[in-house]
Amino acid sequence: MQKQFQAESRRLLDMMINSIYTHKEIFLREIISNASDAIDKLRYIALTEETEMDINGFEIILTLDKENRNLIVSDNGIGMSAEELERNLGTIAFSGSGEFAKNLENAEGASDTAEAVDIIGQFGVGFYSAFMVADKVTVITKKYGEDKAYKWESEGADGFTIEETEKASVGTDIIMHIKADGEVEDEYSQYMREYPVYKLVKKYSDYIRFPIKMLMPHPVLKEGSTEENPEFEEVFEYEVFNSMVPLWQRRKGEVSDDEYNEFYKQNFNDDTDPMSVITARVEGMVSYDAMMFIPTRIPNKFYSDDFEGGLQLYSSGVLIMENCKDLLPEHFNFVRGVVDSPDLTLNISREMLQHDRQLKLIAANLEKKIKAKLESMLKEEREKYEEFYKGFGRHLKLCALDDYGAKKEQLQDFLLFYSSTEKKLVTLAEYVERMKPDQEHIYYASGDSIEAIDRMPQTEILKDKNIEILYFTDNTDEFISDMFRKYQDKPFMSVIDGDFNLSDEKDERIDVIFQDTFEFIKEALGDKVDVVKASTKLKTHPVCLSSGEGITFEMEKYFTAVNPELGMKAKRVLELNVDHNAFLSLEKARTEDEDRAKAICEVLYNQALLIAGLPIENPSDYTDLICSFF
Ligand code: ADP
Ligand code: MG
Repeated sequence: MQKQFQAESRRLLDMMINSIYTHKEIFLREIISNASDAIDKLRYIALTEETEMDINGFEIILTLDKENRNLIVSDNGIGMSAEELERNLGTIAFSGSGEFAKNLENAEGASDTAEAVDIIGQFGVGFYSAFMVADKVTVITKKYGEDKAYKWESEGADGFTIEETEKASVGTDIIMHIKADGEVEDEYSQYMREYPVYKLVKKYSDYIRFPIKMLMPHPVLKEGSTEENPEFEEVFEYEVFNSMVPLWQRRKGEVSDDEYNEFYKQNFNDDTDPMSVITARVEGMVSYDAMMFIPTRIPNKFYSDDFEGGLQLYSSGVLIMENCKDLLPEHFNFVRGVVDSPDLTLNISREMLQHDRQLKLIAANLEKKIKAKLESMLKEEREKYEEFYKGFGRHLKLCALDDYGAKKEQLQDFLLFYSSTEKKLVTLAEYVERMKPDQEHIYYASGDSIEAIDRMPQTEILKDKNIEILYFTDNTDEFISDMFRKYQDKPFMSVIDGDFNLSDEKDERIDVIFQDTFEFIKEALGDKVDVVKASTKLKTHPVCLSSGEGITFEMEKYFTAVNPELGMKAKRVLELNVDHNAFLSLEKARTEDEDRAKAICEVLYNQALLIAGLPIENPSDYTDLICSFF
């Protein structure tokens, strides 16, 4: 007799048939995890009651019945009675696993052993996912402790039938009649071949704790064939597909470095060993095992929008999501790994997971773990940290800049900059610790390379006084100082653009004394410079260019590279060393030979450009000008 699905079920079934899942292949994961649940239940009985059962004999067998186009998943788990068949497979509001767990809780004294039984999922839609790939599903089942076996059958939305049948042993066979291929070639037929099925088991169910077996072809020498002239025939033998014990569930001391490395490389498409492994085993409000890796090399596409970060999410050994982004904050999305929690529900949608409180708790804990690992690397394995920073430092900086520096507090201590005095990368904290007693600023200088900054005339005075300067060689660095403004209450100051009055006070009168000369220079150079003034920074060099307030030269270079049409220009302040011979020559020429004086202005200005790493406007004019002096 045809029975109708309960209304809710029918709706769900319709969704399955018209497939809301993009990955239809997960049906096998669902059916296998149901088989595993059923075995869990019977195993529980075997462990807690007096029975003759062999607790080592539990298994899940896959069969490809190619002749009839059936994919069959068989288990020797607890099975279902006729009523259970009707309830469990006809209604979604009722989840058998959920019910079972509740019974366990209520059962007296069961609480200890209850933990021993992992029951996956309050999911409720799992079984119907078979209809994504099958046009008919037959379930043949015999419940533990009963004599009769039953057959449930459905071709989808029309309903289902249940009748008595024969089955020798306890357990369940799920027989899926695989759909014919439509427009997409091999869309369904792939599930009728050994290798794709094997791959699916490996991908989604590798860590199911019971063996998943299937007959696989093996070539053997034909009887009578010789070694010189070998002939092979295919023999089918059962092969166990899954490795059964997840690495992350083993104790830390029991896993070798090699095993971690292999696991990482196999799972995350990398041929280089990871730089660091972070493991966590947490039992409490939420329980989970996590195993995370910091890659040695930047993952493919890491700095592009196509990059898919996130961790693999498992629920008791069953993969639920391959890239769960919600487990990692953006700034740590270079971390790869797995999280396995028995407390997570196998939710259908990513949206639902996003709001999952348990997931949020796990994510917060993982972030702390990663942070602690990086901190310890920074302190105790400095070289390793620098290696890490070479690849991912830029990412940390970009994240620190995100949202107007909202993550400053979280990320500032992970940033490194080259130090003029230490000749190596240092943290801001280390810089501040070394500051001179009367030093108020964190000095930095921006340029294309360490060598280029070293040569900058503006750095001379500070170096002379042995004051440490941070070298900003990455084009994001200045945005960091600009966004952060301060670190531990010490404001950043640009050696190139800032006006710093060091202890030798600048003589206020200088600007007045040389006012005429400065005006002359300004006039000679016209629009090319905005301000001309005496410098407080120069010692042996005659001239330098600073940008004063507003955007800096490094920012100008950055914006020009991004979009030249923006026309973003830094202010040009020409600073002169009034003690320098060049300035004295200019002073002299101004009274004796105005053209020569103008030429000197031009030379000084171009020199300043060159030193600042900015292009000179007309190189051939400039060389002609220089030659005119000989
Ligand atoms: P869930 O697994 O979340 O409970 P499913 O839709 O996957 O939801 O399965 C519905 C119910 O059908 C299960 O709870 C279980 O009671 C029953 N069931 C499914 N497959 C089997 C099986 N192989 N053996 C025994 N019971 C099964
Ligand atoms: Mg299920």
